[in-house]
Amino acid sequence: MFLSLVLGAPASAQIIPAQPAPLGPKVPVGSGVCSPEKSCADLAPGMIQSALGASPLEENLRILTDTIGGRVTGSPAAHRAANWAVEKFRAAGVDDIHVEKFMIPIGWKEGATHLEVLSPEPFVVHLVSIGWSPATPPGGVTANVVDVGAGDDAGFAKAGDATRGAIALVHTEVLTTWNDLSNEYTVHPVILGRAIKAGALAVFWMSTRPNLLLYRHNLSINGEIERLPQAILAREDAERFARLLGSGRHVRVHLDMPNHVSGPVESENVVAEVRGREKPDEFVLLGAHLDSWDLGTGALDDGCNDAMLIDAARVIHSSGTIPRRSIRFVLFTGEEQGMLGSAAYARAHRDEMDGLLAAVIFDDGNGPITGFELAGRKDVSTAVREALQPAASLGVKEFTLDGAGDTDNFDFMLQGVPTLVAIQDPANYMLNYHAASDTFDKVDIAELKRHVAIAAITGFALADRPGRIGPRQSRAEIEQLLKDTGLDQGMRDDGFWPLWQSGKRGRLP
Ligand SMILES: [Zn+2]
Repeated sequence: MFLSLVLGAPASAQIIPAQPAPLGPKVPVGSGVCSPEKSCADLAPGMIQSALGASPLEENLRILTDTIGGRVTGSPAAHRAANWAVEKFRAAGVDDIHVEKFMIPIGWKEGATHLEVLSPEPFVVHLVSIGWSPATPPGGVTANVVDVGAGDDAGFAKAGDATRGAIALVHTEVLTTWNDLSNEYTVHPVILGRAIKAGALAVFWMSTRPNLLLYRHNLSINGEIERLPQAILAREDAERFARLLGSGRHVRVHLDMPNHVSGPVESENVVAEVRGREKPDEFVLLGAHLDSWDLGTGALDDGCNDAMLIDAARVIHSSGTIPRRSIRFVLFTGEEQGMLGSAAYARAHRDEMDGLLAAVIFDDGNGPITGFELAGRKDVSTAVREALQPAASLGVKEFTLDGAGDTDNFDFMLQGVPTLVAIQDPANYMLNYHAASDTFDKVDIAELKRHVAIAAITGFALADRPGRIGPRQSRAEIEQLLKDTGLDQGMRDDGFWPLWQSGKRGRLP
């Protein structure tokens, strides 16, 4: 969400394929016995074999997506997903499996959204409310639709006074690249601000996907309610409105969006651990998010990575070797509302942050993983590159200083912890992003199995390394990092900066 800033050219990684090595005798986890001589490089071939072979991965993901389905934060489905994760972590054999509850400020569910075209002629319009949009007044609203072009100053100027009391129709480009996506999160809140200033009573966003495909997300941060009712209109329907308006016809509609908005509701993160043998209180965190949107079943975003991490836990456990430090697996909720679960986790575990060596996050779908973004932490790049050499044969070769405030690494970065976010080929991510089409059939299971191996090796390598990859930064150092990377400006633009300044998010002064 929100922003993505390129902070430097990709660092060139040394490529040293892992040498196959025979696995030694297995040692049961928790027995207190360990094989300190077995390095990650020694273990990697066995982990790869275990990840690529027969596993519960596909069936686990099928249950999460097909049986449980879309899992909006705070919903009964999200709770069922948490139970699923607990059960599957248990089957993976790891320790200390539990949920950690937290509150989100507002619960939300779409009502029976309906649009009636009153003029010039009735026709069916496909639309959905965006997430966390307020409801329209009881009985709905009757209003003109006004074309504000791309929603820039020129577009609103051209529409002029007609926007007051009307619904602003905003044109969009088709989403195809990661840049398009970060651009959307940067630009749309600004457009919304213009619509409010112009006196619009609602906004219609043209779908960024063709063929009547609809999707849902929110623009507000920190779980807040949106400032104006907003809906996504099927691209074809929105274009039809635009053509009618362009030819001088009046478009008048009745919009009813009776969304259910509640007070604070409970949500939960799911946590599991492989306890380290030497310094169990120091740990590497492997994370993905369990919540999703609900038009589809959250397969690419981010269900595949939940199932992937659970299977990585199985692979590490079944290797029979215990790393020096602990590996903690956390499946967050509230990500889609502004990384609320990871923020809650970082806050609740503030006292443990000195022991958190790195937070490694997977949240870019199912396209091949090519490396990791290090969010500006130049000081850790050599150590990370060396540690992850055993994963080079799986394609992990690219280490960049890029960073973004768009996924669950964000609050750990704000705690001064080094973070790694998997860099992935977009593959089929953009077309299906938050859409009705984000379903099980979009996931390439063979690819996902490779990612299980990558996650297992990454977690083990970082946890088993004799030293840390880098220090925890002080608040002053974090602030300098934000400035150096330009993330501070992004945080000012989208409203995160006051949360950092007040200590609501990030390391305390
Ligand atoms: Zn996601």
